[in-house]
Amino acid sequence: MERAGKLLNGTTVLHVNLGKARLYKNGYSRRMAEARVYDLHAHTLYSDGALAPAELVARAAANGVQVLALTDHDVTDGVPEAQVAAQQAGITLVPGVEISVTWGAQTVHVVGLQIDITHAGLQAGLARLREFREWRADEIGRRLAKAGIPGATEGARQRAQKGLVSRTHFAQFLVAGGHAADVRSVFKKFLVQGKPGYVPGQWATLDEAIGWIVAAGGQAVLAHPARYKITATRLKKLLGEFRAAGGVAIEVVSGSHSRDDMFRFAQLARVYDLLASSGSDFHSPQNYHMDLGPMPPLPDGCTPIWQTWPEREAVSE
Ligand code: AMP
Ligand code: MN
Ligand code: MN
Ligand code: MN
Repeated sequence: MERAGKLLNGTTVLHVNLGKARLYKNGYSRRMAEARVYDLHAHTLYSDGALAPAELVARAAANGVQVLALTDHDVTDGVPEAQVAAQQAGITLVPGVEISVTWGAQTVHVVGLQIDITHAGLQAGLARLREFREWRADEIGRRLAKAGIPGATEGARQRAQKGLVSRTHFAQFLVAGGHAADVRSVFKKFLVQGKPGYVPGQWATLDEAIGWIVAAGGQAVLAHPARYKITATRLKKLLGEFRAAGGVAIEVVSGSHSRDDMFRFAQLARVYDLLASSGSDFHSPQNYHMDLGPMPPLPDGCTPIWQTWPEREAVSE
């Protein structure tokens, strides 16, 4: 399936046989396709990001992104606006979502890329998760009130504006009220397991989330795998179950990964025969690990998920 080849500049590359993805239009070399700048994980104010879809697309384009995936938590409402903005900016918008999943006692995130956002089954699933979010928001508020902090649910909902309500909005409310110095420390103090405002997730199962994505014609990608606080054994179990359920890729390059994480997950992607994805997980200009824009290249030996995409995604300008 693989053979080594030389590019025009003499660099040796691996050609992985992925069918359609290898057929490039006349005049386009593989090298040009690979030089494109991808950012396949980003948020808007429809979930817990700070920017409107058009603002996100403008920032991505200004920073040199050529293919941007919008992946809001449990909602796709920003995709149509982002599509219009991307067309105007001359970049490609990949319709996506980041689905909250409960796996054992753990919350994990599964990104869906190239989804049909009109798919009824996907939308019914996401609607159920948003219902849980609404209940959870009230429950977080009740728990924080007991801990002496009233008004949190209203404060968080106000900050969520037209988007869904997330712990990020509770964190913003708590910081504004002087309960912690910044969003990061507020999570540690109030919003994680064992703390007053923590409510266990009742999100989708791994099978459900991947099933919805696949039914909607998309590809399921395990988001920022280094972020889950699990043992190496559990991580292997997660990767195995993820793949068995139909997952096809993991994020290797991510705003929440260190350099070491990147190489570690590049290796795991190979071992588990998973494609590699790359995304900043950008939320806001005030607060980000990695800005929208060029990221470190995927390590050698990874097969980028975009190599499986149709020609027009790989090379259109
Ligand atoms: P939710 O899906 O409502 O439970 O919120 C999860 C979101 O909170 C994540 O997508 C992150 O954007 C944010 N988040 C989670 N943990 C932290 C943390 N320790 N520091 C800052 N933001 C966090
Ligand atoms: Mn988030
Ligand atoms: Mn996430
Ligand atoms: Mn994210």
